[in-house]
Amino acid sequence: MADALWSRFENNNFVVHSHLDPVAAGVFVEASRSFNHSCAPNAVPLFVFSPGEPPRMEVVVVSSIQQGEEITIPYVDPALDVRTRQERLRTSYGFDCTCLRCTRELKHPALAPPVNDGALRGIYAQLSGEGQDLPSCVLHESFLPALAERFSASAHEGKYEEAIMYGDALRALYEVVYPAFYPLIALHLLELAKTTWNAALSSKTPDMERAFMDKAASYLRRCRTILVVLGEEGDVPHPLEEVTMLETLLKNEISTT
Ligand SMILES: [Zn+2]
Repeated sequence: MADALWSRFENNNFVVHSHLDPVAAGVFVEASRSFNHSCAPNAVPLFVFSPGEPPRMEVVVVSSIQQGEEITIPYVDPALDVRTRQERLRTSYGFDCTCLRCTRELKHPALAPPVNDGALRGIYAQLSGEGQDLPSCVLHESFLPALAERFSASAHEGKYEEAIMYGDALRALYEVVYPAFYPLIALHLLELAKTTWNAALSSKTPDMERAFMDKAASYLRRCRTILVVLGEEGDVPHPLEEVTMLETLLKNEISTT
């Protein structure tokens, strides 16, 4: 069994423990002087810290870019629905967003990722109570935060399997609304891996334990890919160190089960 110190992981979904969360770090405002906005951005601004030096802003490419394509960053959270994005950009930055995504979503509201999946409908009903109207799309402002809150609360209460259900749904939505290497996806996968590890430790059969460990390992693999693309941010510990530690522990556990 792994060192008791690491045997249970706190779920710190709502603690900003990393400057890799550009929304929480408020870095968009500064970056907006140099880069134009897009609601389907291909880069994000991040703060990088070095001892004895002021924080440095880096803009990191987070999806594939065609030759000659403009590098854009999001001034607002791309997970917001089109009307909210438009409103915030108008109020805070004084322009009407005419990016490709806004143009498409304003013209054809059905193009926004819809809540038409059976599993998502079930989860939404649990979150908001039966009889509530479903939002027309998953970007409804209350949906993602409610899902994140339930994920965190279930993990805190030790209901790990329930937490994984919410966490998986949230992960799937993040993968749809954010660019491939968006920092928030990595931070969420790290929390999801810790929760799944906790589920493995409290599972009733060796088969279930093994299945949860394999699941945790797959979250960590995807998480590592994103963190490697984003690079060092300089503050300690970098989430990548946590990933490496968890991967080592998991490998040891899997080889002894
Ligand atoms: Zn837009």
